[in-house]
Amino acid sequence: MLQERIYLDHNATMPVRPEAARAVGQALLRGGNPSSVHAEGRRARASLEEARSVVAGLVGGAAKNVTFTSGATEALNLALTPTLHHGTDARPWHLLVSATEHPCVLRGHRFPADAVTVLPVSREGVLDLDALDAALAADTGSRPLLALQFANNETGVIQPLREAAERVHAAGGLLVCDAVQAAGRVPLDINEIGADMVALSAHKLGGPAGIGALVRARDSIHIPDALVRGGGQEKGLRAGTENGPGIAGFAAAAQAALQSLTEETARITALRDRLEAGLRSLDGAASVFGAGAARLPNTVCFALPGMNAQTALMALDLAGVSVSSGSACSSGTVKASSVLDAMGVQPDMAKCMLRASLGWTTREADVDGFLAALATTKQRIHTAGRGLAA
Ligand code: PLP
Repeated sequence: MLQERIYLDHNATMPVRPEAARAVGQALLRGGNPSSVHAEGRRARASLEEARSVVAGLVGGAAKNVTFTSGATEALNLALTPTLHHGTDARPWHLLVSATEHPCVLRGHRFPADAVTVLPVSREGVLDLDALDAALAADTGSRPLLALQFANNETGVIQPLREAAERVHAAGGLLVCDAVQAAGRVPLDINEIGADMVALSAHKLGGPAGIGALVRARDSIHIPDALVRGGGQEKGLRAGTENGPGIAGFAAAAQAALQSLTEETARITALRDRLEAGLRSLDGAASVFGAGAARLPNTVCFALPGMNAQTALMALDLAGVSVSSGSACSSGTVKASSVLDAMGVQPDMAKCMLRASLGWTTREADVDGFLAALATTKQRIHTAGRGLAA
């Protein structure tokens, strides 16, 4: 019999919620092209617009300002463009990004290299607001466009969005927020955080992969250069027949996440605290990155000194546990996490970084099973190390 696995990688992708799977199936069976005028088309249009309202509600936005895309990567590629139009300020845009943004922001914008500034973060991974002030003061000839994530995918560290937005707005600029890891996990209101645009992804909240959205705070923010051009779908901002089943699954996941947000936040926080207490009792020298900052309740980014992440990841996988590490393997070499690098974490420690991310499927038994597997892995690595040294 297949052993049940322990899945603690909700930040990579969250297991699909049953409500979302059902909604996808129903939409597939219902069929219809939302642009068709016949009954099937009208029905598809109605469910698309219903889903748009639900997704808008996820971030306290207006349905008319929601553009469905293939995911957050596309939404951010769409939003971060030097042709953006808002108000009468004619200065050229200059893109500011925090150093711990997701690659889809760091590399997914449409600005030339000399119109981009990367802003530093503190040792806890929080945007350096003094550096933001300095960048704004140093370049009054450009209009600032700040890309700042709500919460980091590796550490869960939450950014000071309101403070950053106030500064950027005072300088005549706009703020684009990658809210992928926060939506459906913590309360999120586009106006409260001061964001002008927010990017979302369905598969991070229990919906299907391949569907996301860009939500604008106001319809006076214009993106003249759509990425995907052709038909007039999504008001010309995203051509191509809409992904009705994906959108229906997105909305169902958003609704389920919102309905249980308060209880789930408390439940997941308790599980996270249990996990972190277990790590400390396993190794008094365990580090939890970003622990001194406000963090998402579901993310634990940690290192046990001397326990190489790649080795641990494989051993845990064999033991039936799925977690992740921030390091990426490219061309046969393992590169340390750029997020930890930006936080000034020493390479020795960074290469031991593991991330456990919790979510709606996580139970106490998963946390305890993970801790037990980690203890065994630690022991094995330690014994193997002693063998090599002998
Ligand atoms: N932003 C963050 C913080 C993420 O974690 C991810 C996914 O890993 C993305 C953006 C990209 O989302 P998508 O998979 O929808 O393109």
